[in-house]
Order: sequence, then structure tokens, then C-alpha cells
Amino acid sequence: MLRTVWDTLRAEHGGAPTIARMQAERLNRLVRHARTASPYYRSLYQGLPSRVTDPRVLPPVVKRDLMAHFDDWVTDPDLTLAGLNRDFLSDLSMVGRPYLGRYHVFTTSGTTGVPAVLVHDRESWQVLHIVARLRARRALRTSRLMPGLLRHGLRAAVLFATGGHFGGVVLAESVRRRSPLLAQRVRVLSVLRPVEELVAELNEYQPTLLSAYPSALALLAEEQNAGRLRISPLQAITAGEAMTDEYRREIDTAFEGLRVVQGYAASEVPGLAIRCDEGSFHVNTDWYLFEPVDERYQPVPAGTTSHTVLVTNLANRVQPLIRYDLGDSVEVATAPCPCGSVLPAVAVEGRTNDVLTFQSPDGHAVRILPLALATVVEETPGVHRFQAIGVGPRTLTVRLEAQAGADPDEVWTAVEERLTDFLTAHGAPGAAVERAHEPPTVDARSGKFRQVWSL
Ligand SMILES: [Zn+2]
Repeated sequence: MLRTVWDTLRAEHGGAPTIARMQAERLNRLVRHARTASPYYRSLYQGLPSRVTDPRVLPPVVKRDLMAHFDDWVTDPDLTLAGLNRDFLSDLSMVGRPYLGRYHVFTTSGTTGVPAVLVHDRESWQVLHIVARLRARRALRTSRLMPGLLRHGLRAAVLFATGGHFGGVVLAESVRRRSPLLAQRVRVLSVLRPVEELVAELNEYQPTLLSAYPSALALLAEEQNAGRLRISPLQAITAGEAMTDEYRREIDTAFEGLRVVQGYAASEVPGLAIRCDEGSFHVNTDWYLFEPVDERYQPVPAGTTSHTVLVTNLANRVQPLIRYDLGDSVEVATAPCPCGSVLPAVAVEGRTNDVLTFQSPDGHAVRILPLALATVVEETPGVHRFQAIGVGPRTLTVRLEAQAGADPDEVWTAVEERLTDFLTAHGAPGAAVERAHEPPTVDARSGKFRQVWSL
């Protein structure tokens, strides 16, 4: 662990040349390991030179292929997808526990409909924690957090969708399992619960730290501005969605003095980047290779918006992710960031969702978090992918695509029932859930797959 801390500090101190050297060494080691221990990569890399330090010679990989060859992809024969599903993923009491005593596991519902199972070994997990902590301190320039926590106490509230081994909840539960004290001081609140319930619990708990999707934090800000929520958090960590200017304004107005750490990451590359005070995301390129590319996977220059980005997790040996198509459009800055960071600054066109508004029978507004609604649909058996559109105060339209082999009508009936229950539990019992004629489609203008929005 000390070596990881030392290396992370050394990268910042040494700047671009040191980082380039670290990248080349780590990539060569990772590729060598993948070729030896992963049958998938062994076959993919046949015919490549024995020493690889330039990623551009390596063919990109995509989630669909990797998941289809899961058992050949991972480098530990004790790991199989069937075993994971049977002994671990289906059991929610295992969330945050290490699998086989040594691996941390995330699942994603997959915004493009291909769910993934991501396994992190000890080094990958350590890098996530160390890099996130050290670089977040740096991104915020000064850390005024400790004195505040000493004065007001550590009480963390983590607001994410529960019901699966999802990133934010796995991280929180793994912290809770470290000690009985931390178990008391970190509380997981499911955003699947009605907003009034969350507000009541937060008022009672008075968290000093928050971790949530940007849309969830914005919703809390709205509750605070309306006077229903009364908390004074010192720091908030957001991830999982793009933060919009509108969200940010609402949050800054609601919580005076709140420091917001915005992460840009994915379950595949959990410590990827952190936003600095100047508004750029700085990519932790000492541990994660980051290559913005066009449609044909050719590099795009700084200042140009990419079609997607290929990422490599240099820390994770058990499930090598090498030039993995992350699917995000990004743009690398042409000039150094005024904050002084040696790490590349990027703007990310992340996925944005809308908070939906419905009407209760007595006419008041019921706010629904997009990722909570998405979880309800995605966790319905047989759903391949979907889009949900709020078309009015009493109507939700859903574009649904069932998995191959599943009966679309049966899947729809289940989705409709679950969504109706969900909306009823949140105070909008009259809302109609309608099935769209058209299948889910990529937005023609942005080329992106949006999931939840309102007209
Ligand atoms: Zn910066």
C-alpha cells in the first residue's frame, strides 16, 4: 500500500515524463500477464511482439465480447461467471464482502443493455482508494475537511440504488465492514425510497458527508431550498452521471460551504478522474490509460470531441481491461489547466438524465430520480434495454426491448407492474405507464443513448 502511495505522489512530482515511463512499464507487465493467464487475451494477442509498451498495437475490446467469454477473460481459474452468479451475486447479503476472500465485485446494469460483472483484485482496489483520496485533496487544493469532521463528527450518507452489487453501494458496504465504528458512521440510503422518507431520515441523521448521483444531490438541494430538508454537509462526492450546470447551481445555493468532489469513473475504471476547481476532469493516467478515438478507433487530437474513449486499467490483473471501449465522448484540453495539475484535463460529455415530475392525486409534485427508476426497470427479468420518457404529469412512456428468448409481452407486463408499484409507493398512484410502439433508440442529434428524460 505504501508503494502505491509513493508511486502516486512520484507521478505528480515527476510530471509527464515520469507518468509516460510508469505507463509503459505497467502496460508491458499487464499485457504479459494477460497473455499468460487469460485465454481470451492469449488468443487475441497472437502474433503481437513479445514486449508491448505502446498500446496502439493492441486491438480494442468491447464489453459484449468480454462478457461472452467471461471465464476465459479472467486470469484466476477459481473465477467463473456461473460460480459468481450462484454463490455471490444472487445474494444481496454479500454486497461489499470480498468474493473468495480477495476480490471486490461490481455489477452494472449497463446503459446500453449489456450488464457487466467487474472483478477487482487487491491492487486495483487499493489504487482506487489511494488515488481517489490523494487526487481529490489536490483537486480541491486545500483540505478543510478534517477539522470540520473533528468538530461536527463523521456521519456519511450514501444515496444510491440498492438491490444489486452496484458500485457506490459496494464501496460503502465494504467501508462499513471494516469496523463496527464505521458501520455506525456510514449509512446507505436507497434512492428507490420515496423522497419524503429520505428527507426525514437525513434530518434525523444529520450527515456531514454525502455520496450520491448528481441528480440525487440536486434533488436534496431542492428539498433543502424548499425548507423541508435541513442538513449541513461538509463534503459531497458525486459520480455515476453527468453534473449539469443547473444541478450545480441548485446545490451551491442550498448548501453553503459544501465542497463537491465530482468523479468521472466507471465500474471498469473506478478511480479514473476527478474534477478540479477549474472545472476540468483530470485523468489519473499513471493508473488508467485514456485514449480518445474516432469511430474507427483512430486517435483524435486534443481539442476534438471523440467518438469514444479506450481505457486500460493498469492496476487490475485478475480481469485485464486493455483498450476497452468505454463509450463516452470526451475532449482533451489543448492548454495546461490553470489549476497546475500535471494530469491531462478533459471535458466529458457524460450521460445526463432528467429528474421526472409527476402529480399526486392531491395535486402536489412528486419527484422521481432517473437512476432509481432505471434500476426498477433494469432489475426486471428479461429486460434487455429500455428508455423511459416523462410525457406529462401523469404519464410515463417506456420503450422496451426484451432479451433474446424472452417473451416481450410478458416482460412488458412485469415492467408495467413494477413501475406502477414504484410510482404508487412514491406518491403518484394515478400515473399511467404506457408502452411505446418504437424500440429504444440512440438520440439522432448526439448519437448517445439516453435513458430517462422528460419532454
Ligand atoms: Zn485543473
